[in-house]
Amino acid sequence: MFIYDPALAVSLEEYGILIPSKPDKLRKPLAYLERRLGDVPRERWFAPLRHGLVTREDLERVHDGEFIGRLYGGGEEAEEEVIRAFELRDATGAWYRYDPSRAVRPLAGLFERELETASGTLQACLTAAETGFCFLLSGGRHHAQYAWGDGFCLINDVAIAADAFLRRRRARKVWIIDVDAHKGDGTAALAADRPDIVTLSIHMGDSWPLTEERRALGGHPSFIASDIDIEINRGEDGRYLGALAAGLERLARFSPAGGKPDLALVVDGSDPYEKDELPSTSGLRLTAEQMLERDTMVYRFLKERGIPSAWLTAGGYGDASHEVYERFFGWLIDNGEIPVGKK
Ligand SMILES: [Zn+2]
Repeated sequence: MFIYDPALAVSLEEYGILIPSKPDKLRKPLAYLERRLGDVPRERWFAPLRHGLVTREDLERVHDGEFIGRLYGGGEEAEEEVIRAFELRDATGAWYRYDPSRAVRPLAGLFERELETASGTLQACLTAAETGFCFLLSGGRHHAQYAWGDGFCLINDVAIAADAFLRRRRARKVWIIDVDAHKGDGTAALAADRPDIVTLSIHMGDSWPLTEERRALGGHPSFIASDIDIEINRGEDGRYLGALAAGLERLARFSPAGGKPDLALVVDGSDPYEKDELPSTSGLRLTAEQMLERDTMVYRFLKERGIPSAWLTAGGYGDASHEVYERFFGWLIDNGEIPVGKK
């Protein structure tokens, strides 16, 4: 199953935020699916977004209550939280990558988009548990921390959905496999004391959020370890797939006493791709072939073990992000992995 909703693909530019995270990253893969699966009844492969699935209580179980209160309160306090999460002011207090004159929506309104995104992520988890596989064209705000948003992530839909899934399904364990270029630092911090949420992150070892500046602060939550962290440094692209395979094997052995998980959430950022345009992703330059191998390796690893998987698009910047998802979707279709049933 695939989930998409235009409300999740509203461009950041409509809020005046000048980050090259483009709606085409989500829209073009949907158009690709429509071309490839045009003859198949839509309800066999597509699920509309269930609006409002995630509640305030779900957010408050994972995040600081006062932080969530400011977001629900709207106005200037919510706006300040968005400014912080998207780093829209520089050290002098001047606007940075934010142009209010281009905004057609209020900054504080971004919370609504992100709340809907978290609903989509939870829906993807619940759908995957029933069907084996679900891909949400959105989600993956893995940098949001306990009491503040960070790295373009206002609230951590990954941790929120994992927690809500565990309770709603009375499940015992969720894996979070994060293959975005950046460390899933917020998720690692939020799941640090949770034996029921096991985290693996493979990421650039020498780039944001793991900066020297943050390290020097001491005790910054970005450095809280995932259960399994795999660091790939600049120039080590050739090591990536082998390191991922070894990491997945470690994950499989991580808690044998606890049995296999009820679900895996895959934070499937396209920003390790060599065509990604965000400066802070330049430390990873995987080719299109390596990106496809990454996705299919994770997919097969989970399928072979009978573990349902919910996938999120996470980070991806510039005009080429959509290519990564289209290649993966094409592989799924070509290999009969999308169970569309008879026409
Ligand atoms: Zn990223």
